[in-house]
Amino acid sequence: MSDHEISAHDAAADEVSAIVEGVRQFVRREIAPRVARLEEADGFPQDVVDAMAGLGLFGMVIPESHGGLDLPLADYVAIMEELAAGWSAMPSFLNSHCTVARLIALYGTEAQKARYLPQLADGSRRGAIVLTEPSAGSDLKQIRTQAVPQPDGSYVLNGQKTFITNGLRAGLHIVLARAPAADGKGPISLFIVEPETPGFEVTRVIDKMGFKHVDTAELRFDDVRLGADALLGGETGKGLPQVLSMLETGRLAMAGTALGMAREALSIALQYAKDREAFGQPIAGHQAVQIHLANMATQLAAARALLGEALRHKARYGRADMFASMAKLFATETTMQITQDAMRVLGGYGYVAEFPIERLYREAPIYVLTEGTNEIQRIVIAREMIKADGPERLGLV
Ligand SMILES: Cc1cc2nc3c(=O)[nH]c(=O)nc-3n(C[C@H](O)[C@H](O)[C@H](O)COP(=O)(O)OP(=O)(O)OC[C@H]3O[C@@H](n4cnc5c(N)ncnc54)[C@H](O)[C@@H]3O)c2cc1C
Repeated sequence: MSDHEISAHDAAADEVSAIVEGVRQFVRREIAPRVARLEEADGFPQDVVDAMAGLGLFGMVIPESHGGLDLPLADYVAIMEELAAGWSAMPSFLNSHCTVARLIALYGTEAQKARYLPQLADGSRRGAIVLTEPSAGSDLKQIRTQAVPQPDGSYVLNGQKTFITNGLRAGLHIVLARAPAADGKGPISLFIVEPETPGFEVTRVIDKMGFKHVDTAELRFDDVRLGADALLGGETGKGLPQVLSMLETGRLAMAGTALGMAREALSIALQYAKDREAFGQPIAGHQAVQIHLANMATQLAAARALLGEALRHKARYGRADMFASMAKLFATETTMQITQDAMRVLGGYGYVAEFPIERLYREAPIYVLTEGTNEIQRIVIAREMIKADGPERLGLV
């Protein structure tokens, strides 16, 4: 999927497209009945990932000419929501992968596209996006990983990265690195790194609060020799603009993912409120519980409306940075709130691991912290507001 191919029809479509409906049915039939078992199981859920590959989901954003589905943006976002509503781990297997695929599809040389896109599309190589370092997260200009150019045009890569989703199991890494310069700056570029390359090492898998099935890893590059053809697009100094151009779509996808989790939490809470009795009636009859349910539903509807607005802006104007940040900010904060409210509705059962709310509550915060923290989203929104001539130009009137 490329940005210019997104039509107004795609974003405005109220009907669920066939592919989104297919994913919804797959999740209902194959995933929902076994979520508890999937969560309890140790090890990597290879069968789920294989099933996702069978549906073509690893090729969602890859052109058909390279074996992908090339879905409209609205479908991509809707699929993330369906997967997240079914089992929140599922979109996590896809988020970074799709960013890697989009980077290569948009900026790769023809040789890079021909070599990697078919393998990414069928899921035989899953992608990891490798930006963050121990001392550089939001401020990526401070990265220290170095790609030293050699006289023959090749590079030698050295450095350390952290928090890398799919870092352990990915078959393809896109790594942000700088060429060293006397002033400590030097051009920042993206490099395609195959994990089989000597000197590539996964130094640690990081334990974390949620998403236990999705690995988050520390990586080290120790004199990793890369051919000249590893430089994404063959041009140096483009790394940060290339990464930044991914964020808008990534934020819309993350908003959809968060909404899927919020939707699931709300439907669990609603059903529980109807089933659970206290003081002689279902707790849904108590106004205090009704207020929780009403707040949750209203917030969910508002987050969905804002995401729809962001998709419409994207379709109409090509870029929607402010609305994408708004949609990500509001949907992810809403999901934090809704999972917490759902926990209150379930009482003690909201806190125990055998009920899914405990998991959704633990997993919701990651979306506040990634794809740009929500503090950074506010900065983007404010910057766009200040830059624009007036509210009309922002589409706020
Ligand atoms: C589970 C998980 C998976 C991840 N997956 C990946 C991945 O696949 N690839 C990858 O490269 N990275 C990944 N990350 C890293 C993630 O993108 C970073 O954690 C995030 O960008 C924030 O960076 P930081 O943690 O260094 O925090 P910092 O940048 O140090 O920020 C700390 C705090 O300061 C605030 N802050 C920083 N700058 C400003 C500012 N200018 N104005 C206002 N507030 C500011 C932040 O909002 C935050 O509250 C992952 C992280 C986690 C936890």
